[in-house]
Amino acid sequence: MEEYITDAIVLRKDPRGDLDGRYTLFTRRFGKIAGRATSSRKITSKLAPHLEPGTMAKVRFVEAKGTQIVDALKSARVALSLGELAALAELVPEGMPESALWEMLAHGPFSWRAALATLGWDPMHARCAACGGGHAEYFSIPRQEFYCRPHAAAHASKAARNAVSFIHAV
Ligand SMILES: [Zn+2]
Repeated sequence: MEEYITDAIVLRKDPRGDLDGRYTLFTRRFGKIAGRATSSRKITSKLAPHLEPGTMAKVRFVEAKGTQIVDALKSARVALSLGELAALAELVPEGMPESALWEMLAHGPFSWRAALATLGWDPMHARCAACGGGHAEYFSIPRQEFYCRPHAAAHASKAARNAVSFIHAV
């Protein structure tokens, strides 16, 4: 059974029932991975405080019937909101190291402008996906496109129930 150890930032936690926590981690060595805490109640409750979103931790995981997180030890917290962490969970590709993004998150300074650029969406010359105008500083997470302020506002209100979220990339 292959075992891995890496530094990781917890992006999202999706509780499944009482036992199986499902976690989205951004790791230094492997990029984004999704895994479950092992389904033993004792171990899960021991790990839970080390796997809160926004926590930086050293994690140990194994590949056995999917990715199982078997140990975690928190070392720090990153200064991003839960919404920002969830946005990263959507945008970071799976299983691909992103060392520039890791440095930004682990050591700062973090900005969405730089983070989006490093992930392949450079806001510098972005144009609004609705009108083609410049000053397209709002990045839609589900659509993965930039919008100007009026069109970001229009999309946000139309799709509010779907929790469409925008990042202001400045
Ligand atoms: Zn526009």
